[in-house]
Amino acid sequence: MTDGCSSPHSVQTDPEKDLKNEILRGRMERIGEKLLVLSGKGGVGKSTVAANLAVALAAAGRRVGLLDVDVHGPSIPMLLGLDGRRPEVIDDALQPVRVNEHLAVISIGFFLPDERAPVIWRGPRKFGAIKQFLGDVEWGPLDYLVVDSPPGTGDEPLAVAELVGKPARAVIVTTPQELAVADVRRCVSFCRSLGLEVAGIVENMSGLSCPHCGALIDLFKSGGGARLAQEVGTVLLGTVPIDPAAVRCGDAGVPLVESSPPTPAAAAFAAIVAALTTTASPAGQAVVPADAQHLEKSMLTIAVPLDDRQVSAHFGHCSAFALYEVDEAARTTQSKTILAAPPHEPGLLPRWLHERGANVIIAGGMGRRAQDLFAQQGIRVVTGAPAQPADEVVAAFLAGTLQVGANVCDH
Ligand code: ADP
Repeated sequence: MTDGCSSPHSVQTDPEKDLKNEILRGRMERIGEKLLVLSGKGGVGKSTVAANLAVALAAAGRRVGLLDVDVHGPSIPMLLGLDGRRPEVIDDALQPVRVNEHLAVISIGFFLPDERAPVIWRGPRKFGAIKQFLGDVEWGPLDYLVVDSPPGTGDEPLAVAELVGKPARAVIVTTPQELAVADVRRCVSFCRSLGLEVAGIVENMSGLSCPHCGALIDLFKSGGGARLAQEVGTVLLGTVPIDPAAVRCGDAGVPLVESSPPTPAAAAFAAIVAALTTTASPAGQAVVPADAQHLEKSMLTIAVPLDDRQVSAHFGHCSAFALYEVDEAARTTQSKTILAAPPHEPGLLPRWLHERGANVIIAGGMGRRAQDLFAQQGIRVVTGAPAQPADEVVAAFLAGTLQVGANVCDH
């Protein structure tokens, strides 16, 4: 690869550059969805999230490209066991390294003499590299391009966002500590200033999944992500616990979602992928920021267990929950948040949903004992809801037209 030195912001006027821009546009147009994985700062697990999202989407049968342009520390080759691989160049186009039939990868790390050495390129060389990566790679048709962007909200992620072009959605990765909140706000403002849609927030390192019993140990006050998502007007796509398997997997070049035996982090990524692939509509997930309305009596929080985007028939085995903040009197939904389901543990769900403010749960089926536990938490249970899109079921519930059948899972 050669090293360009032009800033992505400069106006290109010479024909060769116009042609390159045209090629870049053409290549980006063959990509269904572009997901930019961003974080306010380094070290929060952005690359881990990008790699696992890409692997999980590919495992679900999507054609996925994973582009690692984290010029500060391209770690994707190491995370996916691709250290030492080099992309081929055919007809002047870089061929991404194939991981399997569905997943192809390009990383800045492939072009460094030592992938683990810190990158000390100066600004213009970084821009040149970013631009070339985007323009020179022949991905072929893709359903998703997942981009591991440089951290922060400076010129480098800006260059990536501009070059990838629209439509694209941002996945913002954060950690639960209070300090991270300001970073998320900055990231959301950054996206909005670029007109880049925010798909939602991933709260990584959210509690520690105990390697012995699987219970979640709340190390850094997890749960702030949902509040924060509401505050900044987006959704929480899911929470990923600190997983002791991450180090082992990272060293072995195995993505967490493929670790054996499966870990809670792997389940969390599956739920995030479900949330992402069910929130594909650009306008669909707009969330009204929290405000004083929540204190009014007619506000309710309805929790719906999800399978894909439909109401789950098996309440205890769903991968995610949709939480709808609704104004019961006005019969309108104010906001929707999708959360990864907590680990399956007897008696945990009623407490977990109560902590998240749920007043009503609408499910296909639920055992008697679980219903009693919900009642103890003051949560009303509606069972026998049809396996239809949760949005429609909630709308019908609010309109008073929800037809419920038998409790489909009453053991
Ligand atoms: P970033 O891309 O934001 O700099 P990385 O994805 O490289 O962050 O992660 C930083 C470190 O944290 C890595 O060592 C990674 O293995 C570890 N890590 C990330 N997410 C988790 C997690 N959920 N559990 C345990 N370790 C994690």
